[in-house]
Amino acid sequence: MKIIMLGAPGAGKGTQAKKIAAKYDIPHISTGDIFRANIKSGTDLGKKAKTFMDQGLLVPDELVVDLVVDRVGQDDCSKGYVLDGFPRTIPQAEALDAALAKVDQKMDYAINVEVPDENIIQRMSGRRACVDCGATYHIVYAPTKKEGICDNCGGSLILRDDDKPETVQKRLGVYHEQTQPLIEYYTDKNILVEVDGTIDINDVFTEIVKVLGE
Ligand code: AMP
Repeated sequence: MKIIMLGAPGAGKGTQAKKIAAKYDIPHISTGDIFRANIKSGTDLGKKAKTFMDQGLLVPDELVVDLVVDRVGQDDCSKGYVLDGFPRTIPQAEALDAALAKVDQKMDYAINVEVPDENIIQRMSGRRACVDCGATYHIVYAPTKKEGICDNCGGSLILRDDDKPETVQKRLGVYHEQTQPLIEYYTDKNILVEVDGTIDINDVFTEIVKVLGE
């Protein structure tokens, strides 16, 4: 089962992607996580990506397409995978489709987690990330047991630069302009699934499972 998660930044697509990956035992591939890992370890890719990410801009297509095409070709992806944060532009979607077509494959579902902008801004300002392991929390919706301390590894929590209100506004603008057209793209391919992302996290997942099957 090959799945794409669509939705604005902060819509909760990462949370749902992780739940899907666990239930169906397929890899969760987050391009945002891949870039953050590269930034942390100081690679060239990380250095290049950071300049765009910190401004709320998309990393150029050429830095992300090969990385994903290569990743989905690895052995652990043979049963499928869930892509979180990719594609984010029409050229990325076309490049993915072209790469899959070469091996006689295509995506099965594009799940759009729909949340209005007002809710997104409120959600993202409460988001906190661990400086050490990258785990994410929310001060209201997913708090840590001890304030400011990661449940996972004991690291300190911060508001990521790309979650700051001015950057969130910018990211939403970029989303509407560059990523939202993918909804029509996948509607035309008959694989779009719309879910309401404003309801409880577990209820969103129940809706997704209804479509993907038990
Ligand atoms: P995310 O964690 O998915 O919200 O991604 C964080 C940031 O990484 C985004 O705001 C972009 O700057 C960059 N990024 C992640 N995935 C992509 C992609 N598919 N194309 C371009 N930039 C990306």
